[in-house]
Amino acid sequence: ERAAALAGDTDPGATRDGHKVQLLANIGTPADAVRAVEAHAEGVGLFRTEVLFLDAAEAPTAEAQATTYQQAVEALGGRKLVVRTIDAGADKPLAFATQPDEDNPALGVRGFRLTRILPELIDTQLAALGAVTDDSMWAMAPMIATPAEARDFAARARAAGIGTVGVMVEVPSAALRAEAILREVDFVSLGTNDLAQYTMATDRLRGELADLLDPWQPAVLELVRSTAQAGRRLGKPVGVCGESASDPLMALVLVGLGITSLSMSPGALAAVRYAVRSHTRAECEEIAMAALAQDEAAAARSAALSKVNPDA
Ligand code: PEP
Ligand code: MG
Repeated sequence: ERAAALAGDTDPGATRDGHKVQLLANIGTPADAVRAVEAHAEGVGLFRTEVLFLDAAEAPTAEAQATTYQQAVEALGGRKLVVRTIDAGADKPLAFATQPDEDNPALGVRGFRLTRILPELIDTQLAALGAVTDDSMWAMAPMIATPAEARDFAARARAAGIGTVGVMVEVPSAALRAEAILREVDFVSLGTNDLAQYTMATDRLRGELADLLDPWQPAVLELVRSTAQAGRRLGKPVGVCGESASDPLMALVLVGLGITSLSMSPGALAAVRYAVRSHTRAECEEIAMAALAQDEAAAARSAALSKVNPDA
C-alpha cells in the first residue's frame, strides 16, 4: 500500500505540519519539461541548458535559443522555471566553449567564468532569456565563487530584462560568503554535486572516491546549513538542485537545515514528496542535527535514519 500511497500523492511539497517545500525537477530539454509536469513537479529548479548544445559545433543564436526556452515555458504552463546559463567545461565539454589546454578543467574556465573569454556567449543567452516574457522564468549562473561575480551576473541578466536572478552555490567560497552573495541576487541554489567535489577535493568522475564525494559528508552538510541560514536572515530562497535532493532521507535533512526548495530528477519526486509529507519541520530539524553531529558520511546517514519516524 506504500506504493499506492506514493503513486496517488500529487500534492505540493510540504511537511506534515504544513511548512512549504517546493518540489521541482531538473531538466535538460523542453521535452523533459513535459515529463516534469507529468511527474507533478511544481516547476523546474534547474534547466541544464548546456545539454542543448552538447553536439553543436558552433554557439547557438539568440533566436534559436529563445524558441527553445519559450517551449519550456509553455510546457510548464506558468510553473516556475529556473534556467541555468551554459555550464561548459570540465565534465560538460562543449566544442565551442571548452578550453582545450587546461590541466585542471574542473578548476579552470568553466561555468560563469566563460564570461572572461567568451562574454558574448553568455550575453547572447541572456538576451534570448530576456526575450521570453514570462515572470515564471528565473535565470541562474553556475560556478560563482565571489560576491563580485554574483553582482556581475545580476547586472548582465537585469540588463537583458530578466526579472528574477540568482546564482548557484557550488563552490565552497560561495557557501562561506553566502550572505554577501545573497545581497547581490534574489535567490541561490546549492549544487551539491560540485559542492561535494570542491569541498572534499574529490573529482566527481572518479567512482573509486565515492565515499569522499558523498553529500552526507558532514563538511558538505555544514556548508548547506550556513547557506540556508544566510537565506533565512535575508528572507531569500535557498534551494538544492544537486543529486542529493533525490534521496528521500537526505531531503529530510535538507528541509531540516532550512532549504526552501528541492530540485531533482523527475523520477525521484514521488518518493521525496512522500518522505517530506510524512514528517514535521521539527522532526526534519532533529534528523538534520543528528546527521550534522557525526564525523563521517556513513555515520551521518545512519544517525539520520535512526531518527526517522518509524511510523512513516
Ligand atoms: C551540481 O553541481 O550539484 C549541479 C546541480 O550542477 P551539475 O551537476 O550540472 O554540475
Ligand atoms: Mg554543478
